[in-house]
Amino acid sequence: MSTHRNLAPVSVDPARLRLDAADGSAGTLLGMRCLDCSAYVFGLAVFCQACTSSRLEPADLSRSGILYSYTIVRVPPSGWPGAAPYVLGEVELPEGPHVLAEVIGADEEDLQIGIDVKLALQKVTSGESEKPRIVYKWTPANCGQSEMREAHN
Ligand SMILES: [Zn+2]
Repeated sequence: MSTHRNLAPVSVDPARLRLDAADGSAGTLLGMRCLDCSAYVFGLAVFCQACTSSRLEPADLSRSGILYSYTIVRVPPSGWPGAAPYVLGEVELPEGPHVLAEVIGADEEDLQIGIDVKLALQKVTSGESEKPRIVYKWTPANCGQSEMREAHN
């Protein structure tokens, strides 16, 4: 019997991803909204990047966006838990912020600037005694698979 299945997964970055299900199958990207100019940022911020106001409030961000740019990463950063090469996508959310994450479920030739993408959560398990981490990825919106994928290293 595997022990790590009993450990509840945790967000890879609680300031950027809130888990909405105990098993990590649902989550929301987090950011902040400026109370003065309504601009959004992804993750934590001390001041607004648009107007420099420090009056910011926490805000939930959309689970979908458009592929603004992407690049093929052939040499991953050290500790990268996935396969290489992989696609690193820059996605523009409807609220404005850009979110960098791996694009999964698509081949390089299927990708085009401007396509709709949606948030995909992936469970990364690095050891039997460690809590699995939930990481956020992007996947084409027309991609049928919705079940969470698992990665091991
Ligand atoms: Zn502002």
